[in-house]
Amino acid sequence: MIPVAPTPLQHALETRWQALWRQAVRDPRELLAMLGLESQAKRISDAAVRQFPLRAPRGFIARMRHGDPHDPLLRQVLPILDEERIVPGFGLDAVGDAAARSGHGVIRKYNGRALLIATGSCAVNCRYCFRRHYPYAEDTAAAGGWREAVALIAADASIHEVILSGGDPLSLADHKLAELTAALRDVPHIRRLRIHSRLPIVLPERVDGGLLEWLGDLPWPTTLVVHANHANEFDDSVDAAMAKLRGIGVVLLNQSVLLRGVNDGVDALAALCERGFEAGVLPYYLHQLDRVAGAAHFEVGDARALELHAAIAARLPGYLVPRLVREIAGQPGKTPLVLAAADTVPAV
Ligand SMILES: *Cc1c(COP(=O)(O)O)cnc(C)c1O
Ligand code: SF4
Repeated sequence: MIPVAPTPLQHALETRWQALWRQAVRDPRELLAMLGLESQAKRISDAAVRQFPLRAPRGFIARMRHGDPHDPLLRQVLPILDEERIVPGFGLDAVGDAAARSGHGVIRKYNGRALLIATGSCAVNCRYCFRRHYPYAEDTAAAGGWREAVALIAADASIHEVILSGGDPLSLADHKLAELTAALRDVPHIRRLRIHSRLPIVLPERVDGGLLEWLGDLPWPTTLVVHANHANEFDDSVDAAMAKLRGIGVVLLNQSVLLRGVNDGVDALAALCERGFEAGVLPYYLHQLDRVAGAAHFEVGDARALELHAAIAARLPGYLVPRLVREIAGQPGKTPLVLAAADTVPAV
């Protein structure tokens, strides 16, 4: 569901965050012009734009530095020629989701947890994301009124946590989210709800009265895992959104991806963890990049990643140090990078 020009009726019913989402910038040349970077147009890849369009909310662009071609937020969204490089090992299903899918948008590769691919939509298109190749249209949990997903969860008493992922689950309208949780209320083995969303960072207006009302009324402890990769992604509007979420008791965590040219320095990583904490968000995961085609220029080698992680651990209190992990196809959870680098998984 890509938001297009609405009919007059849709326009009247649209919430403010939906209007802001629709007004996101899609033209890379317009984005560069907004930043006074017209001279950088030669770096744009139109082939990359066709494969995975640019999409960046205007409020997120406002946090980019004017005139800086190396801005860490710009780098996350601008489709550039580097994406056209074909690099061995960077493929289309980097995390093995095709094999783990049980149908109907439910992924059952984590013990005790069901991960729902709620929707394929996002408010921002991150160039490093595995979503750029994922065949979402075939397989989202919300598609059939959640019925199949709810039936799968209800039938498996070992599932204690439901994770809403995507795409971005908070790109769904409040009534669509409420439809799911209304059905899940009757499932006795659910103890926790978790939402993975980048929207509270890139479009904090999403955290509006309707969303807070839905969240505040849920019967389970609820965790929101946001996704910010750089301290500059936080501003007053994000702080305000986080404060409202905390105010109704939502636990806030952040996951980041280690990205070359964005946050691959000790100062940048430490600033991200500390700035997040000021907003009320604790660091959770620092992911090694999923090896998706078109994202090789973002990769940071494992040795360097471990070095950076050790350096922030030496500088920050333990609770501000994220776990450095990699997603490995077929593994029942995240793999800490030390193990992955040693290439040995101990037999239990
Ligand atoms: C890893 C992962 C999870 C679940 O893993 P936890 O270790 O329980 O956090 C859920 N959603 C996404 C998108 C993940 O990458
Ligand atoms: S799923 Fe997350 S990382 Fe991927 S494009 Fe959407 S917001 Fe970005």
